[in-house]
Amino acid sequence: WDMFVLAFVERLFRPTYRKDDFVLGKKLGEGAFGVVYRVSLAKNPASKKEGDLVLKKATEYGAVEIWMNERVRRACSSSCADFLYGFLENSSKKGAGYWLLWRYEGEATLSDLMLSKDFPYNVEAMILGEVQDLPKGLGRENRIIQTIMRQLLFALDGLHTTGIVHRDIKPQNIIFSEGSRTFKIIDLGAAADLRVGINYIPKEFLLDPRYAAPEQYIMSTQTPSAPSAPVATALSPVLWQMNLPDRFDIYSTGLIFLQMAFPSLRSDSNLIQFNRQLKRCEYDLVSWRKTVEPRASSELRRGFELLDLDGGIGWELLTSMVRYKARQRTSAKAALAHPYFGREGLLALSFMQ
Ligand code: ADP
Ligand code: MG
Repeated sequence: WDMFVLAFVERLFRPTYRKDDFVLGKKLGEGAFGVVYRVSLAKNPASKKEGDLVLKKATEYGAVEIWMNERVRRACSSSCADFLYGFLENSSKKGAGYWLLWRYEGEATLSDLMLSKDFPYNVEAMILGEVQDLPKGLGRENRIIQTIMRQLLFALDGLHTTGIVHRDIKPQNIIFSEGSRTFKIIDLGAAADLRVGINYIPKEFLLDPRYAAPEQYIMSTQTPSAPSAPVATALSPVLWQMNLPDRFDIYSTGLIFLQMAFPSLRSDSNLIQFNRQLKRCEYDLVSWRKTVEPRASSELRRGFELLDLDGGIGWELLTSMVRYKARQRTSAKAALAHPYFGREGLLALSFMQ
């Protein structure tokens, strides 16, 4: 009850917005389920020039996205872009649509940053706020990638602990928040809330095949028939444990790790080709490595070298994330405690060997 009262009171005192309040700016994205704009408030001329808000005009599936954002806002706000408000906009000619409003977090997604020749050094400057006067090299790159991975897994752990599986984790859905100098997750349009059973994916909706784990249709048996009437199926934590739906996101995050280590896998076409190779190896990264390493380009070899630093703990983490069976993949929380991320862990690993 406390939760409901708190949520209601909080909602009551939060500013509300209407259609006419916004001045549309640059279009930031357009998908099958909505259009995203950078916007400013009409009554606030100070914010007019650039637009310090982001508005998504979503289709009927926006209802679920609002639900997810409200829940994140209360339970794990630092995981995702700062959500302000969501409402049903009825006045448009084409029928009802949901409008969602966030704070504008910054101009770069991880995808934008990874496509730069300077990656990961361009991120180092953003995270630290200054350029370090150190020689470039694998060790320094590895530390930057480590920081990005830690931030990603931290955000993901927040979502998973809340009971939310994102299902569309990819560099395009990770935004660099200039305010907090951290990466945050965006786009909860395909997310599922397993604690209360809200889990709508329309039949025609395909998960992004570039980053989807092999079990693609996770928890589809819980899918209610209509998006406007989310069904409470009272999924118990036991069920969560049995199905481990969070490991779907872990697989996608593992592929991002892979792309950070191997520049050649950052392009769509090469990622798709990699996915085909991995499938042929029955999703076993170790056997994939065996097939490609003997005739690997120097660039590919450099990626393996990066993951092999410190006794191969990077490679160890990667292979614990990208596995065929969900139940054999690590969780976000366990990954954060992996020796890859810390000195104590490193020591522990050397004791074990
Ligand atoms: P979709 O993928 O459904 O079009 P997203 O929610 O992923 O919608 O948003 C589209 C794009 O808009 C993102 O890739 C990102 O570039 C930008 N964007 C979304 N939310 C924010 C935000 N809070 N701050 C800055 N940019 C954002
Ligand atoms: Mg998106």
